[in-house]
Amino acid sequence: MTRILIAEDEERIVAFLEKGLRAGGYVTTAVFSGHDALAFARDDDFDLLILDLGLPGLDGSEVLRAMRARGERMPVIVLTARDSVSDTVASLEGGADDYMTKPFRFEELLARVRVRLRDSGGATEPTILTAGRLTLDLRTRRATVDDDRTVELTAREFALLETLLRHPEQVLSREQLLSHVWGYDFDPGSNVVDVYIRYLRRKIGPELIETVRGMGYRLVR
Ligand code: CA
Repeated sequence: MTRILIAEDEERIVAFLEKGLRAGGYVTTAVFSGHDALAFARDDDFDLLILDLGLPGLDGSEVLRAMRARGERMPVIVLTARDSVSDTVASLEGGADDYMTKPFRFEELLARVRVRLRDSGGATEPTILTAGRLTLDLRTRRATVDDDRTVELTAREFALLETLLRHPEQVLSREQLLSHVWGYDFDPGSNVVDVYIRYLRRKIGPELIETVRGMGYRLVR
């Protein structure tokens, strides 16, 4: 069981993180202020901390400094606004392991969470995903069909295919795919998912991704 502490005061971001992380099998706890973050961030209780820099009370960089000074060694991924690069640099010097600028895609955060947990000796994750004729190597970022045909994918196409492969035979709605692959700030009315599904079908073969009318898409095993 891998436990992740989320310190973030924006409710919709907390909801977005908790939903995705729980679906990925992680146990999450959320706190909304810097003081709570510092009180909760104990290595005995958590394997990783996702820490917003702009927290009320104590800000994220103060939390980080204080918990490192206390001797907590859990990996910390900092969340930061796009326009505060200097804060980000300072937080990395203050003991953060990685950072994400907002807005971010869930898959991107999840990839960093996995890397940090692996580095700290946490749960190991498979690096190869397969479904039927399709193989995705998460380390080399390479997709192959029928064992011998390598398919060149863009970063978005890869993230979309990875999401489908992690939920084989499950119908994923456009909204789920949008929030996983494009992030929480994306317009829910956008047809970008359909467009990218079309790109993917062109590259990997049309029969591998099934359209479930009125519901979404499903990867066929
Ligand atoms: Ca904030």
